[in-house]
This record gives sequence, C-alpha cells and structure tokens, in this order.
Amino acid sequence: MVGITSIGFHIPVYRLPRNVIAGAWQTRSLGGDKAVAGHDEDSLTMAINAAHDCISRLPPKTDASAVFFVSTSSPYKEKQVGASLASSLDLPPNSYTADIAGSMRGATIAMNLAMGMLKGNLAKQAIISASDCRLGLPQTDLEQRLGDAAACVSIGENDPIAEIIASYSVFDEFLDFWRMEHDTFVKTWEERFVLSEGYMRVVRKAVSEFLKRNNMPAEEFSKVILCGPDARSQAGIAKALGFDEKAQVQEPLFSAIGQAGSAEPLIMLGASLEKAKAGDRILFAAYGDGCDIFALEVKESIPRVLEGNSLGKQLSRRTNIGYEKYLSWRDLLSVGFPRRPDPEMRSITRRWREQKRILAFYGAKCKKCGTVQYPPQRVCVQCRSKDDFEDYKLSGRTAKVFTFATDGLTPSKAAPVVNAFLEFDGGGRMICELTDCDPASVKIGMPVELTFRKLNQFPDMYDYFWKARPLAV
Ligand SMILES: [Zn+2]
Repeated sequence: MVGITSIGFHIPVYRLPRNVIAGAWQTRSLGGDKAVAGHDEDSLTMAINAAHDCISRLPPKTDASAVFFVSTSSPYKEKQVGASLASSLDLPPNSYTADIAGSMRGATIAMNLAMGMLKGNLAKQAIISASDCRLGLPQTDLEQRLGDAAACVSIGENDPIAEIIASYSVFDEFLDFWRMEHDTFVKTWEERFVLSEGYMRVVRKAVSEFLKRNNMPAEEFSKVILCGPDARSQAGIAKALGFDEKAQVQEPLFSAIGQAGSAEPLIMLGASLEKAKAGDRILFAAYGDGCDIFALEVKESIPRVLEGNSLGKQLSRRTNIGYEKYLSWRDLLSVGFPRRPDPEMRSITRRWREQKRILAFYGAKCKKCGTVQYPPQRVCVQCRSKDDFEDYKLSGRTAKVFTFATDGLTPSKAAPVVNAFLEFDGGGRMICELTDCDPASVKIGMPVELTFRKLNQFPDMYDYFWKARPLAV
C-alpha cells in the first residue's frame, strides 16, 4: 500500500504583521502575518530542517532511497540541492536525488514520480522536501501575500499515515505567476483574469473529472484541499463542486504564514492530517500550470503526525519583527556593521573533506572509553587512545547551554551574536552559534535543539552549518 509515511515542517519563527508593511507604505493591510525566514535561512536550510523533522516521525528502519528538493527559489541557479539534502540525511550513496524547480505544484509532481519509482521497485521510500522564500515587490499586495516556509513528506509502503487511493494529473499552459532569469520579485497579471481563467477554471475542471473518473461523490471526503493563490477562490471552487465550504474545505493558513510557494500544498495537507482520524478521506489538489489531485485515506498510524515539533506547535512559536529588519534580511536594504575583519571563507576543498562532519553532523565516539568528541579528533581527550573511534551522529540530538558569551562586535544581521558551549544529552560538547532567540533570554542550562543554517554568505558562495535554538516547549 503506497502512501504518505510521514510529514514534517519548518515554519520560521519570525512573523511580519501585514499592518506593519501597510503602515510603511500607507496602503491597506491584508490582515494577519507573513512568516519570514530568518537572516540565516534560505530555501535549502528550511528544506533540510523540514526533512529532518519528517524523518523524526518515520517508523524505525525506513531508510529513504530517493530524495527530491522542490523549490522555485533555490539558493543555487546551478547546483543540485537534492544531493545536499541526501548528504545531510546521511542516505546511502546509491540514493536517487533530484531538484524540481519552477512550479507551485512541484511537491505533488515529485509525489507522482515517487509513486512510480516505488511501483517500479526503483526506490523503497522517497523524501520530498518543498521549500520557498519568494519576494513580492515592495508596496504591492504580493509583498504582503508571500510567506516563507518548508514542508516535507515521505512516500513509502511501510505503515503509512495516509494511503494514496487514487491520483490524476493535467497540465494547462497559463501565465499567472512567474519570474524571468533576471527577476528578484514574483510577477503577476490582472488579478481577476488570473484567478478566474487560471486557478479556478483549471482546478474546478480537473477535480470534477477526477471525481467522475473514480466515481467518488464530494460528500465522501472529510476534507478537501484546493491549494491556490486565494482563499475566496478556493471556497468558490469547492462550492461549485458540491463541497461544504465550512465543514470540508481546508483553510490555507494565509493569515499565519502567507502563500508559501511550492511548500504550501504540503503545509495545507499537514494542517488537514493533524486534525484527521483513521478512516477519513482527504481530497488533495495542487495547482500550477495544471493540477495534481490525490485521494487519500487516513490510516491508524495518524497520531504520529502530532509527535515532536508538529505543525500546530511550530505555528504557535513566533516572534514579530519590524519591516526594516525584513528588508535587510532579504538583502533589499543595505545596513552597516561594526568595522571588523570579514569572516574567513572555508575553502571548497576543506568543505568537501569535512562534508560528513558539516552536513550529516557526525562527531566521533571513543571505542575505549565512550567519550564523544566534536569535531572528530585522532586522539581521545579522555583516555588518550589513538585512531580508535566510531562515527557518532549529533543531528537530531538535544543539548543544554553549558556556558555562553554575547558578542556585539561580530558583523551580523541579527546582532548581538550569542556563542554557546553546548553539552549534548548523551555526551559531547561543542561551541555553536545560537539563533531564533532573544540574546537576553539565554541562560545556562537552557535546553536547545539543532537547526541547519547559513553560517556566512560570501560573494561567491554560501557557508552552511548547524546552529542551536531554544528547544520548543
Ligand atoms: Zn577515550
């Protein structure tokens, strides 16, 4: 039985209230907030964090063998991020990796590809991590509408939380939202035309055909997800297709996150699954130059979606920021830093040599005395035995702040920088930057979790590494 075996999320903690944007431009506010990626986040980091969150809920021994990175805003125009994702997840080298770019329904395109790979015995489990960080031109509605987030699903046969019982896809060439080679901001056309002739026409026709082909009446579904650019049009299509707007339609989380690009369909699916019970049927449709539709049947393992950092928990964790900070974090406003030497760039050779330590976050454990060390060393600090270590994975582990120092001089878009000496639960210590926290709230003994971030951004390359942030309560 092919189905969704797990789902995970990364919703940035930062929120920009839309009335703050409206206040800056003296325009109307669309209400609610948009989620904003931190100064050290991008589509790659958010996708990796969502994927780690997803696998934390997988049944044991369900290694993935295919990985898809889905985004319209990859930090790289040329370079596969799927390989970074697979390396961070520490997958076997013969895993299949791919990037799917440019489409709002990239996640469901990947789901269809994964289902085909599973049926053809080309993969046992596929991880699909969709992440977007798109920009709307300042002072336009799109600036308020677009939000940053990532979500990840795994597709497999082992103990799914929701079985895929039917699927259907159509393509439909339509220019509604786009970016050209040189564009920083998303472009669009006249709103009414885009909604009525694009999203509403395509999704309504495709879902109607899907229901007819599978002989499934609208009332059979407890939830219907009609992912698209606007809540009112979603409700309009649902009504036209015979769904009950209040009881059946999944709300798009517009006021909590905003339109999260290619991550949005999976976020809406997650919101739906967190409220579902075994036996429920969900109709799941994603739109973008066509439409992908799935009918899902929720299984007994569904309580798994509420474990750990669930979507509901991530949505409740939030810190408001101001408009200037948002502009500076997205490189739309230049700001000054204390005059200090620039950080040193780690060479590509060194980065490649230390890939396992950096991406999959491996330390070493002394085989003789059990001491955990990070970074891995040749001699044990405790018992002095030499070259007698085994790999020890630190990602996914929690730690406590042993001690810390606040540094107001290091150039940072979120100064002051807090560097903490962490003590991992289960052993091991390391110095690490703290993020997603108010420096004044950091305390000795504070529990933290690891999160993958941009450590530095140089003119020619990104430098990624793990940071720590306060553990969600
Ligand atoms: Zn030792």
